Amino acid sequence: MNRPARDAAPLLSVENLTVRYQLGRGLTGRARTLTAVRDVGFTIGGGRTLGLVGESGSGKSSIGRAVLRLAPVTGGRIVFDGQDTAAFGRRTPLSFHRDVQVVFQDPMSSLNPRQTIATTIAQAVTRHRRLSAAERDREVLGALDRVGLSGYHRDRYPHELSGGQRQRVAIARALAPRPRLIVCDEPVSALDVSTQSQVVNLLMELQRELGVSYLFIAHDLEIVRHISDEIGVLHHGRLVESGPADQVYRHPSDPYTKALLASTLVANPVRQAARTARRRASAGTGIAPGGGL
Ligand code: ADP
Ligand code: MG
Repeated sequence: MNRPARDAAPLLSVENLTVRYQLGRGLTGRARTLTAVRDVGFTIGGGRTLGLVGESGSGKSSIGRAVLRLAPVTGGRIVFDGQDTAAFGRRTPLSFHRDVQVVFQDPMSSLNPRQTIATTIAQAVTRHRRLSAAERDREVLGALDRVGLSGYHRDRYPHELSGGQRQRVAIARALAPRPRLIVCDEPVSALDVSTQSQVVNLLMELQRELGVSYLFIAHDLEIVRHISDEIGVLHHGRLVESGPADQVYRHPSDPYTKALLASTLVANPVRQAARTARRRASAGTGIAPGGGL
C-alpha cells in the first residue's frame, strides 16, 4: 500500500477544521451549539486514499459534508486543488461540483426508486457535458461496464438489484462526471462481508485506472486498512491518531485506536470464527479449526 504520492501538492488539504452546528434556543433562551469536529487536519494527494475511522457520532460524516460544502466550517479551512473553498462563498463553482463527488452508505435512499439505472447514470453523465443521444448511451454502457454491471442492468430499477449492485450504480454515478475526489461515506457498511470486499476491491481498481482520490469513511478499521494509504482515527470530533495505514493498524499508539481495533476484530465474523476454532483446537476439543466457515 506504499504507493508513491503522484503529486507534490495535495489535492485536498483540511487544516484545523472545526464544524459547529447551531441547535436553536434551549429552555433558557440561550442559543445552543454542538461542536462535531474540532481542529482536525489531514491531506489527500492525487490518486491517494485517506481512511477516516471512528465510532458513530465521532464526526466522520460532518468532515465529509464539510469537504462537500454541506456542513458549516466554523473554524480552519479546506483547500481543494490550491483553492480555499471558503472563498467560493455561496456560489460553489460548477468545476467543484464536478470534481468532488460522493457515495453514501445506503444506495437505496440515494438512488431514485422511480428511475431506471440508465436514467440515473445518464443524468450524471450529461450534467457537466453536452452529448448527443448516441454518445450518452455509449457513456452509460461504459460507466456500467467499468463497475462490473452489464447492459442487462441498464433498464432495471434500484429495487431489482442487490445491495452490492446498487452500490456499484452509486459508484458509476459518482464517477460519471470524471471527478478528482470522491467522499465515500461508509459505502460498504450496509453490505454483507463478502460484498464489502468486492466493492472495496472495485474502488481500488478504479483508483488505479482513473487516478481518483478517496476520502473513505468507515467505522471499521479492518476495512479502511485495505483501501487506505493513510488512516485518521476520530474520537469525539478530534483526530486522535493518524499516519500510514499499516503503521496505524499494526502499531496503534492511541488507546482509543487500540480499543477500536479490538472491537472490529471481534465484530468481523471471519476472524471471530478463526479465533473460536483456534481456541477449540488448543482446548483439545478435537474440532478442526476452520470448519463451518
Ligand atoms: P458520524 O458520521 O461519525 O456518525 P456525524 O458527523 O454524523 O458523526 O455526527 C457528529 C455529531 O454531530 C453527532 O453528535 C451528531 O448528532 C451531530 N450532528 C450531525 N449532523 C448534525 C446537524 N445537521 N445538526 C446538529 N447536529 C448534528
Ligand atoms: Mg456518519
